[in-house]
Amino acid sequence: MKKLAIYLCSLFLLLGCSKPNPDTASYQAFTGATIIDGNGAEPILNGVLLIRNGRVLAVGTQAAIEIPENAAVQDVKGKFIMPGIINAHGHVGDVKGIEPGHYSTQNLLDNLGIYARYGITTVVSLGGDKKEAEPLRAVHDTTSTQRARLYIAGEVITGKSPAEAVAVVNQNHQMGVDFMKIRVDDQLGTAPRMPAEIYRAVIDRSHQLGYKIATHMYSLADARSLLDAGSDLMAHSVRDQPVDAAFIQLMKKKNVAYCPTLTRELSTFVYGDTAIFFKDPFFQREYDNAVIQPLLDPARQQQMRESKSAQTYKKQLPVAMANLKTLSDQGVPIVFGTDSGMPARFMGYFEHLEMAMMAEAGLSPAQIVASATKNAAQYMGLKNVGTLAKGNWADFLILDENPLTDIRNTQKLNKVYIGGKEVKK
Ligand SMILES: [Zn+2]
Repeated sequence: MKKLAIYLCSLFLLLGCSKPNPDTASYQAFTGATIIDGNGAEPILNGVLLIRNGRVLAVGTQAAIEIPENAAVQDVKGKFIMPGIINAHGHVGDVKGIEPGHYSTQNLLDNLGIYARYGITTVVSLGGDKKEAEPLRAVHDTTSTQRARLYIAGEVITGKSPAEAVAVVNQNHQMGVDFMKIRVDDQLGTAPRMPAEIYRAVIDRSHQLGYKIATHMYSLADARSLLDAGSDLMAHSVRDQPVDAAFIQLMKKKNVAYCPTLTRELSTFVYGDTAIFFKDPFFQREYDNAVIQPLLDPARQQQMRESKSAQTYKKQLPVAMANLKTLSDQGVPIVFGTDSGMPARFMGYFEHLEMAMMAEAGLSPAQIVASATKNAAQYMGLKNVGTLAKGNWADFLILDENPLTDIRNTQKLNKVYIGGKEVKK
């Protein structure tokens, strides 16, 4: 080992550059990869990604970019670089393994670490966010480079009257949040649905305070009514019936994005049997047998198989997939999200599964990448992430295979970088 260190030192001396030191070697260059910058342009072959102080300085061909002499250069020939994945609908901090009820600063950090190691470099937590999350928000620029950047929505807004619900909006605002979130859904007839007069008041108050509001919905009728009321994000798929021309037109007119969360549907029934992905080494990277043990219990599996909600959501999944394809074809902006971070919606892994399901629904790899990079940043209003544009954070993935030929290649994850620093495995 000592020998190697001496050899490396002399090699650095020979090359006339010092050992990369975070204080002095502020330039980093990644050379030789195919670079997908997230803007939807053709990938750059044999490209250079030049970083300074954790931010993108330039992206281009080797011929076009001059690499500063003191840059720390990494040859990544044959690899593929894409921006870090943004999950626009997750939940952070409450679940440990598959168990809820663990909300704490440490668990927030642990959850964000899992996301980061899977290449999910930004997560928008849409509800269930408590005061411990506030200091960790991305807007404070305190993001450690070993965890995903965090945006939060605070408490999911509820109330028996407009005044009661508006009070929750105000409370979230006081705590410090990035978004507001409501649910308009009767949970297959098992819960009261928030009345329009309440969600209209909540949406208006949120806008007054300058927040975008994400709405959980299930039915086409509710989705349309929420759009009318001013919702800024459809946080799930329309699942009860095919979307119609009037809805598509309204989505486009209002320029509202649609977040399919197909894996949310999957999670409602997939544990009726032993999920195939439990055997996937990529899954096992973060989730061991102890974690999934309760899901292997035959009685629990049978209970899920026989539950009405599992059967209904399973039947509605093809509707959700068809709606995603229709809306995407019609030019409605699609924003990537999973609703992971709820029990048995496995953070990090489910994002890659979601991408595979979006492909199954008929979206192209390029469309799926766009949903998780540029679109997510743009429609959620996230600053300095999403694309490898100059000035943005150097949050990116190095993949062994091309995600644009098969989106499942996001699972050929070689390395993850956040703010130009490698996320440790
Ligand atoms: Zn959710």
